[in-house]
Amino acid sequence: MNKKSIKDVEVKGKKCLVRVDFNVPMKDGVITDENRIDGAIPTIKYLYEHGAKVILCSHMGKPHNIFTEGFDLTKKEKKALEELPENERAQAKEEYLKKALKDKQKFTLKPVAERLSEKLGKKVTFAEDVVGPSATAAVSNMKDGDIVLLENTRFEAGEEKRDEELCKKLAKFCDIYVNDAFGTAHRSHATTAAIVEYGYAKTAVCGFLIEKELSVMADALENPVRPFVAILGGAKVADKLKVIENLLDKCDTLIIGGGMAYTFLYAKGYNVGKSLLDEEQVEYCANMMKKAEELNKKIYLPVDMVTAKEFPNPIDAVVSTNTCDIENMPSDEEALDIGPKTIKIYADAVKNAKTVIWNGPMGVFENPLFAKGTFAVAEALANTSATTIIGGGDSAAAVKQLGFADKMTHISTGGGASLELFEGKKLPGIECLNDKN
Ligand code: AMP
Repeated sequence: MNKKSIKDVEVKGKKCLVRVDFNVPMKDGVITDENRIDGAIPTIKYLYEHGAKVILCSHMGKPHNIFTEGFDLTKKEKKALEELPENERAQAKEEYLKKALKDKQKFTLKPVAERLSEKLGKKVTFAEDVVGPSATAAVSNMKDGDIVLLENTRFEAGEEKRDEELCKKLAKFCDIYVNDAFGTAHRSHATTAAIVEYGYAKTAVCGFLIEKELSVMADALENPVRPFVAILGGAKVADKLKVIENLLDKCDTLIIGGGMAYTFLYAKGYNVGKSLLDEEQVEYCANMMKKAEELNKKIYLPVDMVTAKEFPNPIDAVVSTNTCDIENMPSDEEALDIGPKTIKIYADAVKNAKTVIWNGPMGVFENPLFAKGTFAVAEALANTSATTIIGGGDSAAAVKQLGFADKMTHISTGGGASLELFEGKKLPGIECLNDKN
């Protein structure tokens, strides 16, 4: 990694503004998954143990902006308001404002401050705003080794808008900017990149989480031990065009499952019945298969599938299923998982690999009737000695649900960010950091 980390700078006595990813799932004020808090702890500990003043900031969810611009309605809400008859608008606006106020309770980071403090066995002061009087007072009272957590950065309208004024105010809390939020490293918001890009944080380094994510994933992509197998799944081809192309360049074998496989199969001339088909991408899929042939690489597609007459509604509803080979796909059915023959072929490819990366489920894994393919891939990865990298999101959830988490080399904490890495893109939250000399 060519970016400086917290170990490369003197942090003692310095105000370190640390962008972490505390976007944790919450239910009724209780945190239901603490992984992201745990992921940030090594960096936080290192900093306070080395005498830094640790000022943590993060977003949580998609709340209304409630600080700088008063109550800022969302685009959808504004449009809905405009469409209402004039005499109903005031009342509707009132309702939105009530909703925005509720967001303050729903998306506050206060419970995270409390939980973090319990985990560290150390006081974490919670500031009730991001750059307002509460934050300013909390920071000015800090001694070396103290920790402050600022309120949800997205309560400030300027966070997502990269507002320079907001960056200027944050700069008062920042002798050293530390980015350890891999999950938002692909975003170019005020606290994830803009504060550095505008020149308000001259010293900008990464924390241990980003360092680890990059060293494992970027290394695997740049210098994979071969054979290198990439497994892609999920719903739509259109969402993963660049990922498919970039991975095809880098890997030896590309395995495709999930809804996106059916556009590839259609492009090969198969009847895919009512399966997900992205007609606009048929030509793209044909081109990718041609490219694979030219590069002497393999693309594996399902040879059999589990189908149903209708997409289950609700998604985990019990429906009657059928298993068939692709040649016999019924015209009035939809393929919702890979079949047993495909599972065997995919598992064998994993067995023979030295590096495997995986992103996206093989079927509608939310329903146990269509989860076998995804679970079988997770199991194959758990049982190989290859370097195994899970690119966050649904595949990470499946691996954890099955209890295989500690059998993987690396499970990324950022679904979107890791996909952008797989696309070969530079992530703004990392690009902006200081290079190693
Ligand atoms: P993505 O967000 O693109 O990774 O897609 C994940 C979603 O793809 C999951 O919610 C799955 O239910 C869905 N999915 C996977 N396989 C299929 C399939 N064969 N047909 C329809 N949806 C699928």
